[in-house]
Amino acid sequence: MLNIVIFGAPGSGKGTQSERIMAKYGISHISTGDVLRAEMKNGTQLGKVAKGYIDQGQLLPDNLIVDMLASTLDGLKDSKGVIFDGFPRTIAQAEALKEMLAARGQAVSVMLDLDVPEDELMTRLLKRGQESGRADDNEETIRKRLTVYHSQTAPLIDWYKKEGLYAHIDGLGELERITADICRAIDAAM
Ligand code: AMP
Repeated sequence: MLNIVIFGAPGSGKGTQSERIMAKYGISHISTGDVLRAEMKNGTQLGKVAKGYIDQGQLLPDNLIVDMLASTLDGLKDSKGVIFDGFPRTIAQAEALKEMLAARGQAVSVMLDLDVPEDELMTRLLKRGQESGRADDNEETIRKRLTVYHSQTAPLIDWYKKEGLYAHIDGLGELERITADICRAIDAAM
């Protein structure tokens, strides 16, 4: 089983690269942000709760996200592996993922850190907001999300370094070159 954590600030290209990795390695993709947006669209109770956090650029409580992730994972029975996109975002979530996979006799194979400079993240997210209409891609919410990334999510870099699973990826430049670097890091972890 190939379990990949694709990591990086909002706008670092996690979604775009996840699609390429899925296609190449034939593994499943779980994006917690996509699952939450589907819940909001369907008007579920979880979707209503999620909206309050997402509109404020804040993270949902760990227990809600971990339960949601567990049931999404249970729905993927015959998968060759998973690419986790937008999860974990806190150390508590990383610990929960480790336990959840261990209970299934699995582990994270590699954590890919897509590193992109802050000014480029802002440019990309503002452009995405115009093109996709994503409500949280406006300047004020983007700034909050970047602050949350630095305070709550970036500490995972050291956490995964200690686990011996960290791979740095230069996320600025040609899409093809970034994908090639990612594939090299995955192949080295297989
Ligand atoms: P994303 O599409 O990954 O940028 O996620 C959009 C928003 O969904 C985030 O700004 C959070 O409010 C929420 N969210 C997504 N994934 C998580 C997570 N793992 N933990 C907490 N909140 C999350």
